Amino acid sequence: MIRSVRGVHDILPTEAAKWQRVERAARGVFEAYGYAEIRLPLFERTELFARGIGEATDIVQKEMYTFDDRSGESLTLRPEATAGLLRAYIEHGLHVQPKPVKLYTLGPMFRYERPQAGRYRQFHQLDIEALGDDHAALDAEVITMLVELFRRLGLADRLEVEVNSLGDEASACRPRYRAELVAYLRTRADRLCEECRERTEKNPLRVLDCKTPGCRPVLDGAPVLGDFLCADCTTHFAKTREYLDASSVRHVVSPRLVRGLDYYVRTTFELTTTELGAQNAVAGGGRYDGLIKLLGGPPDPGIGFAVGVERVVQLLPDAGSPAGAERRTPRVFLIPLGEPALGRMLATATGLRARGLVVEVGYGGRKLGRELERAGRLGASHAVIVGEAELERGEAIVKEMASGAQRVVKLGELAEQLLALGGRA
Ligand code: AMP
Repeated sequence: MIRSVRGVHDILPTEAAKWQRVERAARGVFEAYGYAEIRLPLFERTELFARGIGEATDIVQKEMYTFDDRSGESLTLRPEATAGLLRAYIEHGLHVQPKPVKLYTLGPMFRYERPQAGRYRQFHQLDIEALGDDHAALDAEVITMLVELFRRLGLADRLEVEVNSLGDEASACRPRYRAELVAYLRTRADRLCEECRERTEKNPLRVLDCKTPGCRPVLDGAPVLGDFLCADCTTHFAKTREYLDASSVRHVVSPRLVRGLDYYVRTTFELTTTELGAQNAVAGGGRYDGLIKLLGGPPDPGIGFAVGVERVVQLLPDAGSPAGAERRTPRVFLIPLGEPALGRMLATATGLRARGLVVEVGYGGRKLGRELERAGRLGASHAVIVGEAELERGEAIVKEMASGAQRVVKLGELAEQLLALGGRA
């Protein structure tokens, strides 16, 4: 037997109802805020991610599924959606539309990570990007929309909204902070884990993310980015928070929220929960004002977020998707007895389905008793029995499964009769 690959999962029919619920809620919320769907390829040129996520990030350094195709071109399964979405935005000239251009997409992402609860190698994200506007009100709107999605899913009360400002490369507040941080970390390298020492040189902000308990004392004493923000970044952050308050979005400032991708500037945010153990983030995002230009596009600012669907589904209660709900309960189970009746019943079934009924046909050639038993197990409300004698007379026997009551109906009137028996399935 061939098993699935480590870190990837089948979403079985019993789970799919929850997935559909999340996707429906997301489409509803995103579209209410003016977002349009864009569907993107699952693989791109490797170079796009190296540039768009950042050479120094964990994702690019060690987590990408990269391969040469048969023509020798290096391709990568997308580890996140932003880079591909921006590539499409630039390639198709979507920036000529009224700004901000608002797009959403959803689908699988691929990262070669160490699989554990809530962390997989193929996982799914809902992703939105708002491009071409750098007003703080947009930052607040994006975060509000994210919270609204969770509110509609009944999960908002179980989540905390964390926000932070990362300053800006261009306005020099982040470079100044980075230099300060590196100096601090270098003098305390002996009290940091190996990964932190490595990151100090390659991607120092990420050191703040370290989960190793031994590193905590040093990290807790580290300089805080908030103290280094320039006037513009300070105002932007204060305004964002003000608009969040105006939208009644409760949030906390989390000074060490730095996130994994290189390109974030100013506003970053995460939705976290205490219910999922170590993998506590269900969604995260931020502003990335220099990125579109870096990828060869216009100098448009942007902001976006990604929701981890597996983690959301894990938080959803099972109620609303009872076991067995994966297969729609047929209203009608047709039982043709004999070959000529089977042909006729297949056509009848098509007609009934077109009228909105959920219909199954027992074509197994089993005995009547066995077919009725199957109709019962599937939960059909009515069985329709057509043997050779009925077929000759142009009739069918309609049996109400619950009571066992039977009556004879003209085949030509079957649809009307069944619909009259109790609305649509
Ligand atoms: P990121 O793109 O890393 O900012 O991740 C955004 C969200 O995607 C996170 O908050 C998680 O909910 C989810 N996520 C990221 N990586 C994984 C993974 N390997 N497995 C499952 N969910 C993930």
